Amino acid sequence: MVTTHNLGFPRIGKERELKFALENYWKGSVSESILLDTAVALQTRHWLEQASLDWIPVGDFSLYDHVLDASFMFGNIPERVREMTGSGLDQYFRVARGRSVSDGAACASVHAGEMTKWFDTNYHYIVPEFDRETRFSLHSEPLLESLHRARQLHQQVKPVLLGPVTYLWLGKSRDGSNKLDLLDGLLSVYAQLLQELAEAGVEWVQIDEPILVMELDESWMHALRKTYYQLQSSSVNVLLTTYFGQLQGNLQLACELPVAGLHVDASVAREEADKLVDWLPSHKILSLGVVNGRGIWKTDLTAMLDWLEPIHARLQDRLWLAPSCSLLHVPVDLQSESQLDEDIRSWLAFAVQKLDEVAILARALNQGRHNVMEALQSNHAAIASRRHSKRVHLPDVKSAVRAIGSGMVSRQSPYSQRAEIQHSQFRLPAFPTTTIGSFPQTQSIREARRDYRMGKLSESQYQQRMQQEIAHCVREQEALGLDVLVHGEPERNDMVEYFGEQLRGFTFTQSGWVQSYGSRCVKPPIIYGDVMHTHAMTVDWIRYAQSLTKKPMKGMLTGPVTMLNWSFVRDDQPRAETCMQLALAIRQEVLALEQAGIRIIQIDEAALREGLPLRKSQWQDYLDWAVRAFRIAANGVRDETQIHTHMCYSEFNDIMTAIANMDADVITIETSRSSMELLDAFDQFAYPNEIGPGVYDIHSPNIPSVDAIIDLMQKAAQRIPAQRLWVNPDCGLKTRNWEEVKPALRNMIAASRYLSQHLNASQSS
Ligand code: GLN
Ligand code: ZN
Repeated sequence: MVTTHNLGFPRIGKERELKFALENYWKGSVSESILLDTAVALQTRHWLEQASLDWIPVGDFSLYDHVLDASFMFGNIPERVREMTGSGLDQYFRVARGRSVSDGAACASVHAGEMTKWFDTNYHYIVPEFDRETRFSLHSEPLLESLHRARQLHQQVKPVLLGPVTYLWLGKSRDGSNKLDLLDGLLSVYAQLLQELAEAGVEWVQIDEPILVMELDESWMHALRKTYYQLQSSSVNVLLTTYFGQLQGNLQLACELPVAGLHVDASVAREEADKLVDWLPSHKILSLGVVNGRGIWKTDLTAMLDWLEPIHARLQDRLWLAPSCSLLHVPVDLQSESQLDEDIRSWLAFAVQKLDEVAILARALNQGRHNVMEALQSNHAAIASRRHSKRVHLPDVKSAVRAIGSGMVSRQSPYSQRAEIQHSQFRLPAFPTTTIGSFPQTQSIREARRDYRMGKLSESQYQQRMQQEIAHCVREQEALGLDVLVHGEPERNDMVEYFGEQLRGFTFTQSGWVQSYGSRCVKPPIIYGDVMHTHAMTVDWIRYAQSLTKKPMKGMLTGPVTMLNWSFVRDDQPRAETCMQLALAIRQEVLALEQAGIRIIQIDEAALREGLPLRKSQWQDYLDWAVRAFRIAANGVRDETQIHTHMCYSEFNDIMTAIANMDADVITIETSRSSMELLDAFDQFAYPNEIGPGVYDIHSPNIPSVDAIIDLMQKAAQRIPAQRLWVNPDCGLKTRNWEEVKPALRNMIAASRYLSQHLNASQSS
């Protein structure tokens, strides 16, 4: 018999119940016990949803983040919150979210734990903090308590733990000490935990070591060996879990570790799975992640069975089936989507449907395909309909991508020549000032958008309302004295959704929420088909904004790579192919803006860095096509048109060449939080074009002083010739209010004026 299980279930709830309970708790409008009741109710519901599996997971649920949970379970709590009063829950949320001076009486402010991306997903975890003094201690009560509850609902319950080596890998050493020096201490706590689980009658425990799909040096490989040799004395069976990629050079290591079972991501590592069938010692079970746990497409069950049946014949009871990874990365239930197009809906599977697929595959293997004939037939029909759909495949788009020639990838002239033309045309002062695009999204703007969506505002009423907002925004910018203006983006709910809604090939769910971090969720667009530009998406707004001022108005667009990285994408063609289609669509919009007389166009690539593959050996390939896509989008314009791009992150060192190859005339980046530290990258690499290092941290309500801004810009001017520097905030201003924005920009402009008088722009080249 094949055994079925799951690695983890989405925690936020179908209706985002956890989000609302958390936010109400933080606001003080619900008590701790109501929050905890909600958490218990959600876990119960999720276990029931998984009831058809042989083994259900426990310990995958989290109030905020599973890595933070691991830190608390191992007693690794940052010192800054240890002495604080309040419940354990308060301490937990303080690490997650920090604490400002204002919300605690006499209490000093506490900064939040750093947050970073969970592997190559769009989920963010709280980075564990280590130093050479770090000591671990076991706090297993919450896990044991939920184990107890799960057992009342289901016979076979499998605790999910973050593996000790991955836990160390994910953390940050604060004093430069070697994290691996902490392994021994961590392992003794781990052994104690396995002991407790064994005493509680646990048979199988899932230990996640996703770093096995990354490039590991000998010290980390050794740590893995040491860990699992040491933990093998436990009487609990360990299912060692890997996901998000292939094992490649770590395949042999993964096979050899003395554990009872190995789980691999068969959605991306089929050939490896074949090898494992041959190589895995015969006392080990092999768990195949056969259903892609992070995509939203149905699995081709018939094809999967064709592959699985011979494997099953060989492995028999040693074969387990599951989704490839935790289902944390997909929405809960397709059932909630009543408004999706029927065809498209039939091609999709969310968490609940993915578990059904696992169950169908297992039944087909255990009892024969005829037992699940109907399910296989309807799956086959859906797969075939998608494969041949005229809505998915637009021959014109495919041939346009094939026809991209080298002439489309480059500007007419190199930057130095363009810059001359642009400078004499715009006549901007030294240290020109601009913003990143959005201005405060006030309550009334959001209401207008909502009323329009609900049909309460007519098209023309809505247009009028938005024009009022744009006019207001332009007036404010003129009064402040900014040099390059923006329209303020009042019509945009989200920088990807706004464009996705108007391009062919995208669709949107009603409640396809996925946790991004803590209570924050995103509803990624779904790119289901060939992407095509059908009408100008921004021209009317920008043209209107330009008509109100003599200063240059920037047209604002989202770039192809960011649209790709923040969407659910197709699995029937390479990401690069989808990206080229997006690039062509944005290129048309760029040309439409230029045609309409807009002379500066910004193409945001906020998520370019996020798309980097897990293995460094694959970075160059990604960067090559990502940069090419940007260039295709941007480079159709005349020399006099100035292209800006914006990126809101602070790590450039390792991708500097690629950033320069994008060849935007101006790039604006985040730098204020690291007080220009990231500009160190510019010491090694002479960035050739113009750059606006952000001087105003828009994540904080603080208003930067003129002196602070001058100081930051002077640091920048030490690395970059002053005549190529711009002055701007770190990112868009939509989350701030006007009372904060106006004085901050006023200071920014004053700093720019000071700099142009005192730092002779032509002298430091
Ligand atoms: N133009 C966008 C804005 O200002 C950029 C947002 C982003 O970089 N995340 O809001
Ligand atoms: Zn940004």
